[in-house]
Amino acid sequence: MSDYIRKRLFQGFICLHILHHAVEESVYGSAMIEELSRHGYKLSPGTLYPILHSLEKEGFLESFQENVSGKIRKYYRATQKGLDELQNVKKYLKELVNEIVVDEKNE
Ligand SMILES: [Zn+2]
Repeated sequence: MSDYIRKRLFQGFICLHILHHAVEESVYGSAMIEELSRHGYKLSPGTLYPILHSLEKEGFLESFQENVSGKIRKYYRATQKGLDELQNVKKYLKELVNEIVVDEKNE
């Protein structure tokens, strides 16, 4: 994949992916990096954390801290606004997938 496409699309894919998981459970940085790498996205903390912070700043995520064996870990969870936004985006996503992925198979 070219850098051009990567830059333009990945930020959005990653936001959606984070939202998707944060709707289902509380997520934290390093676990999210692992999850994304499972899907083929190689992300450094320096890339992921600003995305988490901006999703929180925009009100799509909320965070809380927990003490995990002596270390403070910051967890994120989707807000109602985040959930609504994800539902909205899914409509566009389905439409797009139907056109460029599903249709291709039927041609
Ligand atoms: Zn995932």
